[in-house]
Amino acid sequence: MSLLSVIVPCYNEEENVALFYTELMKNSAFFDEKNIELEIIYIDDGSVDGTVAEVKKLHEQDERVHMVSFSRNFGKEAAMYAGLENSHGDYVVMMDVDLQDPPGLLPEMFSYMEQGYDSVATRRVSRKGEPPVRSFFARRFYSLMKKISRTEIVDGARDYRLMTRQMVDAILSMQEYNRFTKGIFGWVGFRTKWMEYENVERAKGETKWNFWKLFLYSLDGITAFSTVPLMLASVVGLFFCFFAFVMIVFIIVRKLIFGDPVSGWASLVCIILMASGVQYFCVGILGQYLAKTYMEVKRRPVYIAREKL
Ligand code: UDP
Ligand code: MG
Repeated sequence: MSLLSVIVPCYNEEENVALFYTELMKNSAFFDEKNIELEIIYIDDGSVDGTVAEVKKLHEQDERVHMVSFSRNFGKEAAMYAGLENSHGDYVVMMDVDLQDPPGLLPEMFSYMEQGYDSVATRRVSRKGEPPVRSFFARRFYSLMKKISRTEIVDGARDYRLMTRQMVDAILSMQEYNRFTKGIFGWVGFRTKWMEYENVERAKGETKWNFWKLFLYSLDGITAFSTVPLMLASVVGLFFCFFAFVMIVFIIVRKLIFGDPVSGWASLVCIILMASGVQYFCVGILGQYLAKTYMEVKRRPVYIAREKL
């Protein structure tokens, strides 16, 4: 007998809670055959709709259904962390409640685990049904990350992932407050099998991410897994020094050969504006890292639970 923990973050998903359960249970025969016991942990991320009530209903029907309910919305990262922390399974799988992570893939995922992988991860090969602007910037983000981070962050990777207890413990040992799970998975390593599938559109309701939220999230990802932006200031500074040096030589030579009627006011203003612009930009980058460090140093809890079932 082995225990599988299914972690399901939910934020205002009353329509999907039961739907997800039904869909997951379609694998019952498979679980029985493989002697896998289930533990389903819904994480209510401070929902303001009937999500909690829906989970309670399920809990009454099926004692394998558990819940951790947050005191407010802490975000999906916090929800995933809470799920891992409250799981007991020998295997743990993380899934969205909106059925964009099809439970039907589980048997195939387990077959890879039997081949000795520590983790089976999924990635979407298409972004069908997603707004083109969002896809475009997502692609840019992943190609940037590839260049500036040594941690592997895979394009199109979902958080849908089956892991061994050993890997879960490794993830939990990363006690950072600014969590970027896509990076953390890569950072802890282990033997990972990648499974690809076509994008599935969400069952009910709407996505909780807008462009701005995703943009901020991508900044979290960059600051959490790369320090390359911090080097930018030095590189740009060096470049400016070099440029200034060349100009000084040029101006001295010109003065000696042609004499110098006073001119160049406009170009001077442009140079000052540009140089100070670059400085502010670099100070801004420093500020980003400082802010993250500040939050980290406070050692606040990642989430606060209001209720547990
Ligand atoms: N989610 C969450 N907290 C949030 C936002 C989202 O727990 O603050 C959950 C949500 O209920 C869903 C999953 O995270 O189960 C993925 O969210 P969504 O489907 O909105 O994102 P998308 O699939 O569009 O990236
Ligand atoms: Mg979704």
